Amino acid sequence: MSRFDYDLFTIGAGSGGVAASRRAALHGARVAICEASRVGGTCVIRGCVPKKILMYAAQFGEALEDAAAYGWRFGEPRFELAALIAAKNAETGRLEGIYRKMLADGGVTLVEGFGRLVDVHTVEVDGRRITAERILIASGGAISQPPIDGIELALDSDQLLDLERQPAHLLVLGAGYIAVEFAGIFRGFGSEVSLAYRADLPLRGFDDDIRRRLAEAMDGRGIGLRPGFEPVRIERRGSGFAAIDGDGREIVADTILGALGRHPNTSGLGLDAVGVRTRERGGAIEVDHYSRTSVASIFAVGDVTDRANLTPVAIAEGRAFADTEFGGRAQAVDHSLIATAVFSQPQIATIGLSEAGALARGHACQVFEAGFRPMKNTISGRQERAYMKVIVDRADDRVLGAHMIGPDAAEIMQTLAIAVTMGARKADLDRTLAVHPTTAEEFVLLRTPRD
Ligand code: NDP
Repeated sequence: MSRFDYDLFTIGAGSGGVAASRRAALHGARVAICEASRVGGTCVIRGCVPKKILMYAAQFGEALEDAAAYGWRFGEPRFELAALIAAKNAETGRLEGIYRKMLADGGVTLVEGFGRLVDVHTVEVDGRRITAERILIASGGAISQPPIDGIELALDSDQLLDLERQPAHLLVLGAGYIAVEFAGIFRGFGSEVSLAYRADLPLRGFDDDIRRRLAEAMDGRGIGLRPGFEPVRIERRGSGFAAIDGDGREIVADTILGALGRHPNTSGLGLDAVGVRTRERGGAIEVDHYSRTSVASIFAVGDVTDRANLTPVAIAEGRAFADTEFGGRAQAVDHSLIATAVFSQPQIATIGLSEAGALARGHACQVFEAGFRPMKNTISGRQERAYMKVIVDRADDRVLGAHMIGPDAAEIMQTLAIAVTMGARKADLDRTLAVHPTTAEEFVLLRTPRD
């Protein structure tokens, strides 16, 4: 009989924590998990899932406009944000129920409340002390509020997902994933939208050809781009707000979204008290390939470790941890090749190195690209173009990176990611027959490298 209440106690019932706990229980471990908010975590409750529901809603406006050119006739369409938010809440509620059931069916005990480390084998949840042989920290990320005067006047992405009155003019600060996604969504709802960011292009870190085309597409959709704008102050202005930068330039809007990044959610966990080391810069929990922290009985997965802050990565890290510690099979996640999508409008998806990244790593590259107006946009008269880019290593013909902006980019990239993960050469793309007529076929029809 173990001297501990559980074999594993997990802090945080989001994507990583739930996946790890269920997998550990499957291996026969006695597992409990605590959650201070709603079961399902950021992805299900206030991230990927609700965001994508809003994205679908935004795309109907465009589809309705285009439909006229395809012969459809409707009355005057009208959008009701409150109705959408109610439907979204019903769906996240349903999913939370599924997550709770999955835990219960998987034999994982749910303890509702905030978990705090007391010692290397003990967690206190709302005054109750629970012991475990191993503790997994999967507490995710939290919204960052950089030191900008009046930043509390801006809404954050959690609040925007529950907004019931549509802004007349939404100003989005930042140009990362969340900023560009919400800018596209609210523009699709018909709000006036401005996007203000300190760099020259949105989405720092993505391939520059994609970033440039995203900026053009956002501009084409009527989003007011304000590059080179770094806010230092937000203040009330009439019934709205003004964001002001260091040169005194200001942008006035009735609603401001601050989408200025996220950070590891370690506040109040008691890491220092038990000796769990965190990185000096950013505060992420330090872990090795097997998600082991500086304390032998304590592990961490997901955004709290700031490796790659994406749901599938957290799930993979959680399962690898459980297989290693409870399944007798050492597993580590390979973080070197991760496909990802940005649900901007149009969508962006990518795997592997950007052109600049490939050059920085000393690869001599060939670049293949295709830009075209998707067939659907010809009849509708929409000018927006799709663009694909493949970066190939001259030395061995291997595909180092693939990038796309355009309709269904995320769906297309998921499949291409299999080939790239398998180590595809450009010759493999070339010998693949096209599926016609599609957008995706352009990835296998790229013949002439760019000079
Ligand atoms: P990001 O890190 O992607 O972007 C943060 C943005 O805020 C950048 O544009 C950054 O500018 C800007 N910024 C930060 N500090 C300041 C400041 N003091 N003044 C002005 N601008 C500032 O964060 P997000 O909040 O958009 O997303 C958080 C994470 O969530 C992402 O890293 C991603 O992993 C995940 N996510 C994934 C999604 C997906 O997979 N589709 C969707 C949404 C989120 P600069 O670039 O100049 O530093």
